[in-house]
Amino acid sequence: MTQVLFDYTRQDATGSSCTAQAWARVPPAQSPAERQRTRERAAGLLKSQRAVLVAHYYVDGDIQDLALASGGIVADSLEMARFGRDHPAQTLVVAGVRFMGESAKILSPHKRVLMPDLDATCSLDLGCPPEPFAAFCDANPDRQVVVYANTSAAVKARADWMVTSSCALAIVSHLKDQGHKVLWAPDRHLGRYIQEQTGADMLLWNGACIVHDEFKGLELELMRQQHPGALVLVHPESPQSVVAQADVVGSTTQLLNAVVKGSAPAYIVATDNGLMHRMRQLAPGKVLLEAPTAGRSATCKSCAHCPWMAMNATSGVVNCLERGSGEVHVPEPVRTQALGCITRMLDFVARNPASVQLPARGPLPHVGAA
Ligand code: SF4
Repeated sequence: MTQVLFDYTRQDATGSSCTAQAWARVPPAQSPAERQRTRERAAGLLKSQRAVLVAHYYVDGDIQDLALASGGIVADSLEMARFGRDHPAQTLVVAGVRFMGESAKILSPHKRVLMPDLDATCSLDLGCPPEPFAAFCDANPDRQVVVYANTSAAVKARADWMVTSSCALAIVSHLKDQGHKVLWAPDRHLGRYIQEQTGADMLLWNGACIVHDEFKGLELELMRQQHPGALVLVHPESPQSVVAQADVVGSTTQLLNAVVKGSAPAYIVATDNGLMHRMRQLAPGKVLLEAPTAGRSATCKSCAHCPWMAMNATSGVVNCLERGSGEVHVPEPVRTQALGCITRMLDFVARNPASVQLPARGPLPHVGAA
């Protein structure tokens, strides 16, 4: 394993921000034969332990294929949470980053929730520590506290609502219609986008995703000139100069569906390039171009792929099932507190199904023993 360092933005209770540093580790590459053996071993363990694999769109393609072929799911964080809660399996293997495992445990306390690497985190989670966040909330008691899914269980325990990028617009619109002001955390770009779209009174925490924050507006303009027929798909965690050029702004699922259902032959995609794997499977023949992340003189930090999502390897699925390692625990008082804001979101989505889009379905790849 090699370790790499990344800078991220961290805010304190007064609203001041600083740059902090975090690490991620890169799993060693496997030969094609090793990969196949590992996939088959993981599939056999999932079956023998009656476990289900719940994977995010940004993780390695081998894990995505394994999840689909073994009866699991590849989805965004909203659908991952719902699927894990509703699936009868007593062991959930969550391939993603830590807050996704915590959300699964909060919703299913009696299930065993395992992760391939418990140290896989998120710059949004890191950039919003629970204590300064609670102090920030205490200083603004007249606002409904709305947090993005990409936060720790302790931060969710302080929130009134959790949202994902699939349903954030609908929920903040609802709050505005009810006359509420909003304290939003942690992603500043997504918060600004929702503020612009809804006109809601929103106080924003200063956090950012190190992947989406890197997309560059000027370079995107040049790319659009080179590919005039291509549609531009943008995740709203991206900077304003990038969102402003989008033909479609949406969650991972909404961007995937835009490619699958779209009639354009080519798409410029501004989100983690892990999503390209599912896009290629469901929309073969369409041209997919990664949105630019850096200019000539800039240094690319994440290069459009989340270093923490990349910590998920199929060998990690094997390890956690064989050894029971990577089990997620959430202290019960925190869990019950955090459950409130997640349940409120899930109930809202159940009452307003048109406010979100489900993952696109498609042929399952073959991965051996599953
Ligand atoms: S892609 Fe960004 S928002 Fe998603 S887990 Fe990685 S750092 Fe967090």
